Amino acid sequence: MFHKILIANRGEIALRIIRACKEMGVRTIIAHSTIDAESKPVRLADESICIGPAPSRDSYLNMQSIISAAVISGAQAIHPGVGFLSENDTFASMVEEHDLIFIGPSPTHIKVMGDKVTAKQTLEKFGVPVVPGSAGAVRDDQAALQYARSIGFPILIKASSGGGGKGMQIVYSEKDIPHALRIARSEAKSNFGDDTVFMEKYLTKPRHIEVQVLADNYGNVVHLGERDCSIQRRHQKIWEEAPGFSLTEKERYKLGKVVTRAVQKLGYRGVGTFEFLYEEGQFYFIEMNTRIQVEHPITEMITGIDLIREQIRVAAGEKLRFKQSDIRFSGHAIECRINAEDPETFMPSPGLVEKYHPPGGMHVRVDSHLYAGYKVPPTYDSLVGKIIVYGETRAECLARLQRALEEFVITGIKTNIPLHKRLAHNSNIAEGAFDIHWLERYLAKPE
Ligand code: ADP
Repeated sequence: MFHKILIANRGEIALRIIRACKEMGVRTIIAHSTIDAESKPVRLADESICIGPAPSRDSYLNMQSIISAAVISGAQAIHPGVGFLSENDTFASMVEEHDLIFIGPSPTHIKVMGDKVTAKQTLEKFGVPVVPGSAGAVRDDQAALQYARSIGFPILIKASSGGGGKGMQIVYSEKDIPHALRIARSEAKSNFGDDTVFMEKYLTKPRHIEVQVLADNYGNVVHLGERDCSIQRRHQKIWEEAPGFSLTEKERYKLGKVVTRAVQKLGYRGVGTFEFLYEEGQFYFIEMNTRIQVEHPITEMITGIDLIREQIRVAAGEKLRFKQSDIRFSGHAIECRINAEDPETFMPSPGLVEKYHPPGGMHVRVDSHLYAGYKVPPTYDSLVGKIIVYGETRAECLARLQRALEEFVITGIKTNIPLHKRLAHNSNIAEGAFDIHWLERYLAKPE
């Protein structure tokens, strides 16, 4: 096992990694920006090192500074967390070139899966069903038109290097293709530095179902079940559940098999998530995330497995300690992402946290770096925490979530807790009657 890990991230995920490391007896050093000097993860890590000013490109995305910090501090491995450099194959290669271990998959796997066109092509070969779409990148209007005719409208134009729900354009008719293609390309270029786009059938009422996998360096692979992440705004998840309660046992079994087989064929190591859209009994792969995900705690709740600990273990070269048949699923878990934003307008709401009273009680977990007196910087993502609750049944879980959200007090900044309270009491949510477009419809016309 490692004796020291450098954490190249911030906020709640940095805190989550520090907690796992402490329990494993691994020392932590956190690489942070100037504006995060007073943050909770910086206070709780064993050591900290400032790697640059507030803007991400100068600190959390500054590869040279992070690697120098790891080398100087004697860390053996780097945990990239989520976002920032966690899916950057150039960074993963640089880490390896400096005789450090990147806590994640190989740079090759990051690269292959980071490009959605290649990812779909690769996984289709391994028997994973994908969303019908263009065979590869769409180069010009004429090619786009031909693909659109063969796929059928509506069509979604997506950025091959896309992420965070950015760079997508829905097209309903042939005449709108040239304009949509131009916008998608320019958004892709400005957000991801790559204007490659492709086309997919736009599914009108799917659920988002994703499967968590874990693999070691010796070809052992398990899946840890699925999550339903259909409650999204602007293609970004805000509420997630485990298991994917709309699946039948047969579908669940089949999906798990397809995914573990693909991971074995890929020779993938570490944690990963296969994302699918699920409509009318069919699964369609959309992308793979080659890192830990924000919503990992709900899987931890229903399996009792600490995913960050297992991720660090396999990165250190240890063998998986369990087989598929050892994994037991029990109960239901829901996670609500707490964002520092206006619950009506969704404008970011950084600033000073005046009061902070997280909920507690049985089966309630809050992963957050907030504390009273902390100043949420305006510089980064608006995610300031997650509330995760568990119940033996989904109904029990929802009742507990309603109770826990009532207890949650955060003042000084605005958060989306009022929205989560409404969702926790909504009858469609209670009945499980929703798809990925449900929240947008609800926000346009609540109740
Ligand atoms: P990103 O990498 O930006 O998160 P994804 O490919 O994972 O992009 O898609 C994010 C979300 O966008 C999905 O969860 C889903 O809500 C929506 N989406 C993606 N592909 C399609 C599609 N073909 N039809 C309908 N919605 C889609």
